[in-house]
Amino acid sequence: MTQQLIVIGGVAAGMSAAARARRINPNLTVFVYEQGPHISYGACGLPYLIAGDIADYRALIARTPEQMARQGVTVYLHHQVTTLDPVARTVTVRDRQAGRTFEQRYDALVIATGASPVLPPLPGLELPGVFALRSLEEGLALQRFIAAHQPRRAIILGGGYIGVEMAETFRRLGLAVQMIIRSGQVLRPVLDDDVRALVEQELTRQGVEIIADEPVAFEGRDRLERVVTRDGVYPGDIALLSIGVRPNVTLAQAAGVTLGPTGAIATDDHMRTNLPAVYAAGDCAEAFHIVSGRPAYVPLGSTANKQGRVAGTNAAGGEATFGGIVGTTVLRAFDLAVARTGLTTAQAQALGYTVQTTLIEATNLAHYFPGATPIHVKLVVDDATGRLLGGQIVGGEGVAKRIDVLATALHHRLTVADLQQLDLSYAPPFAPVWDPLLVAANVAAK
Ligand code: FAD
Repeated sequence: MTQQLIVIGGVAAGMSAAARARRINPNLTVFVYEQGPHISYGACGLPYLIAGDIADYRALIARTPEQMARQGVTVYLHHQVTTLDPVARTVTVRDRQAGRTFEQRYDALVIATGASPVLPPLPGLELPGVFALRSLEEGLALQRFIAAHQPRRAIILGGGYIGVEMAETFRRLGLAVQMIIRSGQVLRPVLDDDVRALVEQELTRQGVEIIADEPVAFEGRDRLERVVTRDGVYPGDIALLSIGVRPNVTLAQAAGVTLGPTGAIATDDHMRTNLPAVYAAGDCAEAFHIVSGRPAYVPLGSTANKQGRVAGTNAAGGEATFGGIVGTTVLRAFDLAVARTGLTTAQAQALGYTVQTTLIEATNLAHYFPGATPIHVKLVVDDATGRLLGGQIVGGEGVAKRIDVLATALHHRLTVADLQQLDLSYAPPFAPVWDPLLVAANVAAK
């Protein structure tokens, strides 16, 4: 009998796993079951698709089922895996279009079921005009709604990454934007207060109103007309929920897959779960955090692709390991790039570190060079050892390359003294002679 790999979920982690498995073992039969209508797309591009930067949604699709078929991977769209029997090594699959259910056996299985937006159980949640943005389908629905109804007032509920990116998109489309956030703070768990203040200043400067409140109902006749909150009523004709995501683990949990302390699937460094021949990867799984030394849930496309590749390699009989994450992210908030890696001050303190922090302002290019703009670098350092624990950078061009240097430093447990010695590139159009990272390290070393 040919060896058979089943992959559940066909986006970043699932398709990486499937493609990789076939390359490792060309004799493997690989089936991918995806409950939705699309596979292998970059959800990360959705805010820019909706803004009109990307003309055709098909540009977001990396590989179609037909292309996957040519690579030897058979993709079934609209097919939902409903149960997993780890003893018989079978899955039950429901073909949603044909309305039939069947069983399929596996020799190895990759769970790549991703995550879903947290939806508060509020009255009116189902009204047209109330959106969460996760899948390509949802992105296209939001785009169609904007084209059909020309909304004028957008209300974003929550202050997560997607909320911030979509605030920019809505403003660029000419809408008034209010962000209603329970804490009144954007990107709250992932930035320190002083760095967050810089991001909030930019949002305010760009006409985004940030309100500390929480929704209690969505109201309107045929579609959304207002959001009722604890403290008021906000007229709005489109609302976007951005209050986080939850790993899709129901299927796995019911089959006896162990979840970790974060509530996502626990795996080892080979992306193996506790069940034999069952792997997990992407937004449904946790990752080992190299700085904290603990499992973490940081659902990102960058990690999903890597974990999928490792799961696919091992599921096909190869050998690969996933070394873990340091929690690096970057996003655009209008004219600012906002990036972070490692631990925030609060996260480090919660782990028992006494930290020393440094926040400096410099310019991204030589100060006299046309186009030079301010850049802020924050370092979080272990007071006892001088080891870098985290970094946050906000500014214009050059933020992403610098956060990547800090991420590399975290992977290698560098101290501030090590950072001071880094031979970083310099020429006036790219950096000042003292790179902002070196300036921050010099200040931290004092
Ligand atoms: P998902 O993308 O969630 O895919 C899982 C798939 O599994 C889904 O298609 C689902 O339908 C399917 N599925 C679930 N259960 C079943 C079942 N039982 N049977 C069959 N199919 C099932 N990340 C970054 O790193 N950088 C960014 O800039 C960034 N920007 C983003 C912007 C937006 C608007 C969004 C929505 C996400 C962004 N992300 C970003 C996150 C990134 O898109 C995700 O981390 C990535 O898609 C995770 O891939 P995944 O395959 O693990 O899960």
